[in-house]
Amino acid sequence: MDKNNHWVIHINKALQCVIRFSCCEPNMRVTRFMELLFPQSCLLCSSWQAGSLGICGNCLHDMPWHLSNTCPQCALPSPGGHLCGHCIQAPPAFDTTRSLFQYQFPLSALLQQYKYRQLLTLAHSLGNLLAEHVRQQSFADCIIPMPLHKQRLQQRGFNQSVEIAKVVSKQLHIPLNLQACARIKPTPPQASLPYKQRIKNMHGAFDCNTSLQGMKVVLLDDVMTTGASLNALAKTVKAAGASHVECWVIARTLSQ
Ligand SMILES: [Zn+2]
Ligand SMILES: [Zn+2]
Repeated sequence: MDKNNHWVIHINKALQCVIRFSCCEPNMRVTRFMELLFPQSCLLCSSWQAGSLGICGNCLHDMPWHLSNTCPQCALPSPGGHLCGHCIQAPPAFDTTRSLFQYQFPLSALLQQYKYRQLLTLAHSLGNLLAEHVRQQSFADCIIPMPLHKQRLQQRGFNQSVEIAKVVSKQLHIPLNLQACARIKPTPPQASLPYKQRIKNMHGAFDCNTSLQGMKVVLLDDVMTTGASLNALAKTVKAAGASHVECWVIARTLSQ
């Protein structure tokens, strides 16, 4: 690429950042300011071939894409893509799970960065990829992102699932519902707890303040580990009348 073209691209990217910066909420401005200083390169290898997704073609190819033979209900590996034994014996409250990736490096590192360094660029990339992944069977009445307790929201400054859900909602024209459900119990991070404690921990964690009678609801989360949080949220929306609940997640942990 010739040197002048290179700078034209940089200036264009900087101008796009200025426009986005001026439109965003105050707590997003630090991130946008960083984008303005450092126009987007590949989030994984820093190449300038990142394109609109923010991840270059080579890195995208090497991502830990989810397996094709998985249980339709919980998205864990299952021969032939049949319902797994666990879902037959003790069915979760959600009906289906779609996952884009397996929760492995480098995706795990990317998601950690996203949570703790506020890399909202990644919400755009992951949201677009997830929307493409589920587009063929994306009939739903609303998307409910996994709610954070208000204390955690204050600490972190943003809800990573909401940011991804905004992109998916826009791409697939499915309304986002941010008001219906709230996390009413401040729970410690699930990753720090053993499996049985995670289930117990989620009891009474959510509240739904509106009727979802007969609705097909999508619950969107970044990572599904044991599924305890999504199961508790699914129980809550079904108790509010939802007829069908799908989980859409960026990544699924395969071993617990
Ligand atoms: Zn790359
Ligand atoms: Zn299953």
